[in-house]
Amino acid sequence: AIVTDQLVKRYGSHEVLRRIDLEVLPGQVVCVIGPSGSGKSTLLRCINHLEQPDDGTVSVDGEVIGVTHRRGRTVPLGAAELRRQRAEIGMVFQSFNLFPHMTVLHNLVLAPMKVRGQSRAEAERRARVLLGQVGLADYAGAYPVQLSGGQQQRVAIARTLAMEPKVLLFDEPTSALDPELVGEVLDVMRKLAHAGKTMIVVTHELGFAREVADRVIFMDEGLIVEDGPADQVLSNPREKRTAAFLSKVL
Ligand code: ATP
Ligand code: MG
Repeated sequence: AIVTDQLVKRYGSHEVLRRIDLEVLPGQVVCVIGPSGSGKSTLLRCINHLEQPDDGTVSVDGEVIGVTHRRGRTVPLGAAELRRQRAEIGMVFQSFNLFPHMTVLHNLVLAPMKVRGQSRAEAERRARVLLGQVGLADYAGAYPVQLSGGQQQRVAIARTLAMEPKVLLFDEPTSALDPELVGEVLDVMRKLAHAGKTMIVVTHELGFAREVADRVIFMDEGLIVEDGPADQVLSNPREKRTAAFLSKVL
């Protein structure tokens, strides 16, 4: 399971995450919705330690991320150890973030070779399997600029999968795409969900959330305001603030 315990993030005096408690069980798909500035991206960035939380902890299968204990004191983890832990928490961004000067295949093999110690042959074999899974078997030798946005995002998902993370975080993975390319990316995500991957997805695609999510979380002003089954939160919200948000976006 992936657990946040009293997670706090501040920028100056602005408390962006205000003691977030969240537990996502293996195989669960959780969609996170909420207004701009409510802290959705910050939550994901703190979970995978792109941002250092100011208080509280994130743990994956019981292992606290980013810190260790030495002589009864809590101390930050070394860079190599932190890299090993972060490899368990894959993240897909709105803006694909592929390495533009590398082929698709090279994008996929880099981290598995560096962080997982895979041989090039092994990493390439796995990469080709993953490219097949996202429908891009013929694009191993292409450069990102030669691909559509939807194809680039599918490569980015395959690159994240190549590390075999325990949890996948998606931050508005379809928001930068032309409307006609959204479906192919959601299809890949739907397949991952059905394959039993553990996923936390920040999204405005409420149709996807309703269909795929086990739970939907509504965030506002750094708090989890509501957390429940997708149908209940989206169709029958308990909280006024959730209802108000939904009435604006639907
Ligand atoms: P959106 O739907 O627009 O993506 P969000 O829910 O993802 O919004 P965050 O990006 O997590 O919101 O931002 C939450 C708050 O933290 C906002 O008020 C934002 O301005 C602030 N914030 C985020 N990153 C930083 C930063 N690096 N420095 C200062 N403030 C920041
Ligand atoms: Mg955001």
